[in-house]
Amino acid sequence: MPGMARLLIIEDDLAIRTLLVRALRERGHAVATATTAMDGLQTALDDRPDLVVLDLGLPDVDGSELLRMLRAVSRVPLIVATARDDEAEIVRLLDAGADDYLVKPFTAAQLDARVRAVLRRGSPEEADPAVVVGGLRIDPRSREVRLDGELVDLTPREFDLLHYLATRRGQVITKRELLTQVWQIPYGGADKTIDVHLSWLRRKLGESAQQPRYLHTVRGVGVRLSAPEDAA
Ligand code: CA
Repeated sequence: MPGMARLLIIEDDLAIRTLLVRALRERGHAVATATTAMDGLQTALDDRPDLVVLDLGLPDVDGSELLRMLRAVSRVPLIVATARDDEAEIVRLLDAGADDYLVKPFTAAQLDARVRAVLRRGSPEEADPAVVVGGLRIDPRSREVRLDGELVDLTPREFDLLHYLATRRGQVITKRELLTQVWQIPYGGADKTIDVHLSWLRRKLGESAQQPRYLHTVRGVGVRLSAPEDAA
């Protein structure tokens, strides 16, 4: 179900806990609970929920202390529920790694909206900057390139060249543009440099100028990257 998440609510107050669990389940989330900080820490590590809702006033350990303990071992998205509308305290909690906060009393609808906002922010799909063209996957964070799932070993310059072309899929890019944008050579420079790098890149991608799959030379103009299925 889209927007559905596995939540852990760490809250000692039975009435609040019951209310939140029921409301969040009605909204399609799977909800687990813990009533003490130590039980909450254990459950967070064992169950690996998508998001933790943490009450600050817990019977065994203060919630802000639990936040620090949890952050030492986990990046799980976390919303703090506090009875204290104290700006300095809230800033401290956000600095300590809370992703958002709610001041009690709050409604289940408010909590649900915050949960969805925090999960949207942290969603790996949206955070994933990888460029995919056909069977090529180019990840600028890890600087990894895969072709049909197989890792392709590129030099830093080859990587930059491929990434530049892939983010402009289907466009003919001039050698002049590549020299200024990838090589950062504003004037002059040798076209030959690009030809040589293109030929290395082609070899590593298992293709040639005569039989291109991804890298197409447009004679007298430049080069275009497209997926084999684009040509059809
Ligand atoms: Ca409490």
